[in-house]
Amino acid sequence: MTANVLFAAGDAQWRVYEAPLRHALDEKGVDARLATDLPPAEVDYIVYAPDSAVQDFTPFTRARAVLNLWAGVEKIVGNPTLHIPLARMVDHGLTQGMVEWVTGHVLRHHLGMDTHILHQDGVWRLDAPPLASDRRVSVLGLGALGAACARMLTTLGFPVTGWSRSPKEIDGLRCLSGDAGLRTALAEADILVLLLPLTPDTENLIDAARLATLPSGAVILNPGRGPLIDDDALLSALDRGHIGHATLDVFREEPLPPAHPFWAHPRVTVTPHIASETRPGTAAQVIAENIRRGEAGAPLLHLVDRDAGY
Ligand code: NAP
Repeated sequence: MTANVLFAAGDAQWRVYEAPLRHALDEKGVDARLATDLPPAEVDYIVYAPDSAVQDFTPFTRARAVLNLWAGVEKIVGNPTLHIPLARMVDHGLTQGMVEWVTGHVLRHHLGMDTHILHQDGVWRLDAPPLASDRRVSVLGLGALGAACARMLTTLGFPVTGWSRSPKEIDGLRCLSGDAGLRTALAEADILVLLLPLTPDTENLIDAARLATLPSGAVILNPGRGPLIDDDALLSALDRGHIGHATLDVFREEPLPPAHPFWAHPRVTVTPHIASETRPGTAAQVIAENIRRGEAGAPLLHLVDRDAGY
């Protein structure tokens, strides 16, 4: 049987994904008709991005799954017309990109690189950084991305504490969960990395009260989602110097409006949601594998728990 696969992720994505997807489907021996325009009632799988023109899934009467190109699913998970399985993106290329972004920004702050890059002013500053073993890092979220970043930081010698919803055991890492675990993870975070999904439970998790429990001068990296942090509380903590720096990749409104105070704040670095992106070559393999599984009646990979919201 031919599987009808609708690519509903926009023209720009189609230009980069069409060839890798066709190649990956061929490689896996999947007989598929892949197109950006198919009669909804004939579609078997929907390759999807949240900014897609498809917002009502009701006409897709025989579709078996929505395969999201993005890791984050907050813009689709609550769609009331979606009643079929939703798979999110877990892609080796995406994970590697996030590990590189997080490691680079942790090292920037750990080594105090700005001091020497921004002040080439003839002053001989004797301010050698401590070793990684003396810099505590906490990673909130130990999923595909958080766990990979935590492992890399551990390899570099940082003492890493991770926090997740369910208890975990990961070699070389102190893994915590629950409210008490969060309190410890925050209290001992010289550098805090946010790699949680956006759900009703995580929105505004980093509020004024929790910011106050971070060590004075702590650095925050947020490549997770903007609404994990209460912006006003963060700005206030930055103004007071309680938070030493925030490197933010994600925001409540994207693109971040030019007048937003984050742009001009001396203790904030803005990166434009580029921490990591789905890589067509590897992501196409993930999508094709799920279609192969669907056709073979095997369980799909990376299914979203609709109740948990991620
Ligand atoms: P994931 O595999 O689903 O992992 C999510 C982690 O967060 C899990 O460890 C989960 O705990 C934990 N978690 C969820 N809700 C929680 C709660 N209420 N309390 C404590 N822990 C909670 O997700 P991922 O692939 O690592 O991606 C994480 C997020 O990164 C995405 O959702 C997306 O928002 C963001 N992202 C950003 C970019 C970028 O370029 N900036 C790129 C890709 C992704 P359990 O392990 O117990 O389930």
